Amino acid sequence: MTRPQIPGQIELVFDVPELGDVLRAELTTHVLPGWQSMGACRSVADDTWFPDPADTMSKAAALDRCGFCPVRRSCLAHALATGEEYGVWGGTTELQRDVLVRDLVDGADVVDALDGATLLPEFLWRQAS
Ligand code: SF4
Repeated sequence: MTRPQIPGQIELVFDVPELGDVLRAELTTHVLPGWQSMGACRSVADDTWFPDPADTMSKAAALDRCGFCPVRRSCLAHALATGEEYGVWGGTTELQRDVLVRDLVDGADVVDALDGATLLPEFLWRQAS
């Protein structure tokens, strides 16, 4: 998979492997039932969490909102388990989830991956995106 290039950013191109059934099942165990109804985005009816790839301001706004979301971990685990390719999920961008998928396929621990993605200060993720 190749992500669209954002003007002014270095293009990162790498193959994103598929998560196997075992990893998907393990990720699903970290998804709280009914998490969608508790999300900070539940009452927002616009495209805030699905900004244009080049719209870094809107993407940053969505990531900021996710930072205060009580079900961020469930949201991210769901997005990874179901292979959500577009939008901001669990406080991560498409590219950040690609990196997480590659880490998981390469043997990273699921708990460590979810902790790292949801507990790190937002600015560290921004630097990596
Ligand atoms: S983490 Fe972000 S995208 Fe997921 S439910 Fe919360 S606010 Fe919505």
